[in-house]
This record gives sequence, structure tokens and C-alpha cells, in this order.
Amino acid sequence: MICLGIESTAHTFGVGIVKDKIVLANVKDLFSTDTGGIIPSKAAEHHVEVCDSVLDSALREAHLQLKDVNLIAYSRAPGLGHTLKIGAFAARTLAQLHHKPLIGVNHCIAHLEIGRMLFPECKDPVLLYVSGANTQVIAYEGGKYRIFGETLDIGAGNLIDTFARELGIGFPGGPKIEAMASKSHSYIELPYVVKGMDVSFGGLLTHLTKMAKSGRYKKEDLCYSLQETIFAMLLEVSERAMAHCGKKELLLGGGVACNSRLQEMAEKMCQERGAKCYVPEKQFLVDNGAMIAWLGLLMHKAGNRTQIKDSIIKPYERTDDVKVNWRQ
Ligand code: AMP
Ligand code: MG
Repeated sequence: MICLGIESTAHTFGVGIVKDKIVLANVKDLFSTDTGGIIPSKAAEHHVEVCDSVLDSALREAHLQLKDVNLIAYSRAPGLGHTLKIGAFAARTLAQLHHKPLIGVNHCIAHLEIGRMLFPECKDPVLLYVSGANTQVIAYEGGKYRIFGETLDIGAGNLIDTFARELGIGFPGGPKIEAMASKSHSYIELPYVVKGMDVSFGGLLTHLTKMAKSGRYKKEDLCYSLQETIFAMLLEVSERAMAHCGKKELLLGGGVACNSRLQEMAEKMCQERGAKCYVPEKQFLVDNGAMIAWLGLLMHKAGNRTQIKDSIIKPYERTDDVKVNWRQ
């Protein structure tokens, strides 16, 4: 069975095509800026502009035509209403024009399921999902993917991008902050806010912004200290969730997980507690259509369907709103 998945929860418009466990195509186009952050309506305009070409490239890469596809999946949640609507509209149109079944999926769960697909030995991981808007520690428990810990305010990527803007860097700021951080080893103490299994970054952002504005600190040192602090916070809560759930696998997901320092710290934490760390390759860490297609296939096989009349978006749906009937 071949599924075409459309991703549009935020800055990325992606189309992935998956046949059984094989990714035939995973094409994306990212909305980016030189100076400001994401304006939802502008990101939506971007998605409308690139929609056709991303779809065509994915089909070409997979050597397929739309008639060969058996199922259309789209990310229905969570995300920006403006951009989610574009993906849902595209999916609905394709499904209706080509008489294909449709399925709406949850983006956070897709990050976890693509990890389980890529690493068959990774059966029941704790997912540390760190993207622009989302920072969550997710694991399967009692029939649902539950959020064991999360940010109490902004996502880790948002923190990084907002601070990058402060330094005059455009969106996305993560890779540039990482490059600057690699030039320093001087740690400046920053607020470290962990509450149980939750984290908070708002105070840290205000503090860092003030420090940057004061002109008394080297940018490289601030970037280095930012990374060391937030990654330690993220791994502390991940480790606590692993201990709480008795799970021995950590899976990384989300754009921030592309950071090699975060990956290094995650590997080390897992090694120290006799656990295994799984890091998907970059094309599957960031937002992508292949993971949407894969989750669509899993859900469809388990009998889930989305009728056209129900193919709405759910910008605020949480992972534990979804009943998981595709796992034994
Ligand atoms: P996503 O929403 O999952 O596609 O992730 C986007 C976020 O990942 C943005 O906030 C980026 O700044 C961040 N990001 C991308 N690459 C890196 C990196 N190497 N280090 C830290 N953050 C990154
Ligand atoms: Mg994501």
C-alpha cells in the first residue's frame, strides 16, 4: 500500500511517499526569513506557492503518478491554523479528485512513529521532541501517547530563534547559534528551570536578551551557555521520564534535535543509564511528509478513516487526545 503524506503544521510544506516501510520520496520546502520570525499568514502563502512543485517533485522522485497512490494523509494537528489549512485543503482536493481515502494524523505522534519505523529494534521509546513550537517528552502508556513533560511556556526552538533574532540572525536560528556555540567553551551561568518533568524557557530568554543587550558578553559565550543549559534541562526531564516509565530507549525528534551537542549529551545520558539512544537522520528529525505518510498507513491499516466532511484541522489537539489502536 502506498501513502502520500502532506506536512504543513508550521514553516515546512512537505510531501512524503511511503510504501510499506520504504520511503520513496520525502520532499520539502521551508519558509525562511533573513531577519524576522514566522508570520503565519506569510508561511501559509509560501505553502500555497510551493504546493504544486513539492508534490510534483515527490511523485517524480518516487517514479509514481497520483493514480498509483492508495491513501492520502495530512497533518491535522497541532500547529498554526493558517498553515494547517493549506495542507488539509491540498489533501482533501487530491483525495476527492483521485477518489482516494483520506486520513488526518497528529504530527507529534508521527515524529515518534517514524523513529520506530526507522529503527525496528527501538520498540517502546521515550521521545524527546524538540522543535520550534513544541518541547515535549512523550511515551506510550495505557493505550495512548502521553506527554510526561513539556515546556510550560515557549518551545526550545522558539527560544533559540527569538534569541537569534536578538543577535540579528534570521529564521531558523538554530544552525547559526550552534556554529557560534562551537567557538566557545566559557560557560556563563543562566537560569535553569526544571519543575518535575516540565521545563520553562521564558525567564531564560529574558535573561539572555538582557545580557546580549548589555554588550558585556561575547555572543559565542552566550550561545554556548544557552545550549549547555537548555540541553541539560531537556535531558534531565527525559531521563526522569525514562526512569518513571521504566523505558530503556530514548528517541530524538524535532529540528532542535539536529544539534550535534544535544545528540552528544543524549548519547552520554543513555550510556550512563544503560539505555539506547536513537537519532533519526536529519530529513526525518525535521518536519517532513514521510512521517505523516507512515503514520497514515499505520492508522489506516488499523481501520481508522477520515471522511471528507470530518477532514478539519485541530490546531490544539494533544497527543493523548488520540486513541492509539495501531499498536499491539
Ligand atoms: P522543526 O519545527 O521540528 O522543523 O524545527 C525547527 C526548529 O529547529 C527551529 O526553531 C530551528 O531553529 C531549530 N533548529 C534547526 N537546526 C538546529 C540546530 N542545529 N540546533 C538547534 N536548533 C536547531
Ligand atoms: Mg515537528
